[in-house]
Amino acid sequence: MSLPALASLRDLDGARVLARLDLNVPVANGKVLDDTRITAALPTLRWLMERVDVVAACSHLGKAKGSPDPAFSLEPVAGALAKALDRPVRFVPDCLDPSRADAAPGELLLLENLRFYPGEKANDPEFAARLTAPFSHYVNDAFGTAHRAHASVVAAPALYAVGRKAAGFLMAAEVAALSRVVNDPEQPYVAVVGGAKVSTKTAPLEALLGRVRTLLIGGGMANTFFLAQGLEVGRSLVEEEMVATALQVMDAAAQRGVVIDVPSDVVVADAIEGASRIEVVANNAIPADLMVVDIGPETRVRYARGLASAKTIFWNGPMGVFEVDDFAAGTLAVAEAIADSSAFSVVGGGESVMAIRRAGVFDRIDHVSTGGGASLEFLSGETLPAIAALEV
Ligand code: ADP
Ligand code: MG
Repeated sequence: MSLPALASLRDLDGARVLARLDLNVPVANGKVLDDTRITAALPTLRWLMERVDVVAACSHLGKAKGSPDPAFSLEPVAGALAKALDRPVRFVPDCLDPSRADAAPGELLLLENLRFYPGEKANDPEFAARLTAPFSHYVNDAFGTAHRAHASVVAAPALYAVGRKAAGFLMAAEVAALSRVVNDPEQPYVAVVGGAKVSTKTAPLEALLGRVRTLLIGGGMANTFFLAQGLEVGRSLVEEEMVATALQVMDAAAQRGVVIDVPSDVVVADAIEGASRIEVVANNAIPADLMVVDIGPETRVRYARGLASAKTIFWNGPMGVFEVDDFAAGTLAVAEAIADSSAFSVVGGGESVMAIRRAGVFDRIDHVSTGGGASLEFLSGETLPAIAALEV
């Protein structure tokens, strides 16, 4: 099984292509706040528009609930897309509009939010058949949605034969980079996992144990590991109900000879916003009235050293509340250590990618994954439904 590349598409003369993209960008007051996903879609769109007369882009946006909702309209994206592509973009205000495959020369079509129809999330074959009816070819470049069994990414490609469906460049790049860290990664493989909670990352944590040599833990999730080791965490964010899971992860690691490293020192504060007390303490001396907000300076150096000798690195989840300047040092130190290392490096996760940008090291990471949930599921060794639906 392999993913069909764009170059495998046949009969492009007179073709009408439906391109499923991930244009789920943050929008406020009709303005696109972050165009990362628009930029990521451009190579595939450009490739198609150079070869095909009719290209219609489609996507979901936000948490639309199966009926039209102006708050989740893709209309603001049309302007941003036109600017980025330097081509006219005609917005089609209903993804099933009869004119959705009628493009003027050089024009891109952008269909309204797929989730305005309940059939999208229900993976309804009838909705997929209606959506795709005027299109001769199908391209999926929406890696961020690949872990969802929705109509536009699962039922839709099932309607296309070999040579008529393909993965876009972004999808292909994501799958290639993530496959490299899942299948036979070069050792030593060091993973850094942080972020708020253990509960949202149990499966990837367990999957990583089968592959990595060292797992560096940071962020709020370290607090749960502290608790599991009998340490006190004061007023920190912690998940008591995940202590058993943390113990299981530590056990499994010990059995496999994987080193699990937790912060030996931490930054603690009395508040996240407007803190008046900020201290560095050892992990066995966290004051009862303070909370952990970052890894400490000793841990930063130790983690950086561990990353320096790695040949493969995966990072997900910030080391602290990096949104607040005073608590960003740990996250920025890890970002810089990864950028400095010669390892093949992959970073995934919404906040982690923001941290990479803030650290100014985006271009020094081998692969920055745009798909948060999708990349974690891929990393957990799961078959993503949208990828399975494209494979031939
Ligand atoms: P990602 O989006 O990269 O997968 P998560 O969503 O899991 O990461 O977690 C990111 C959030 O975790 C950040 O907003 C950050 O403020 C928070 N966080 C990190 N460390 C702590 C901590 N010690 N206490 C509370 N929140 C934390
Ligand atoms: Mg997040």
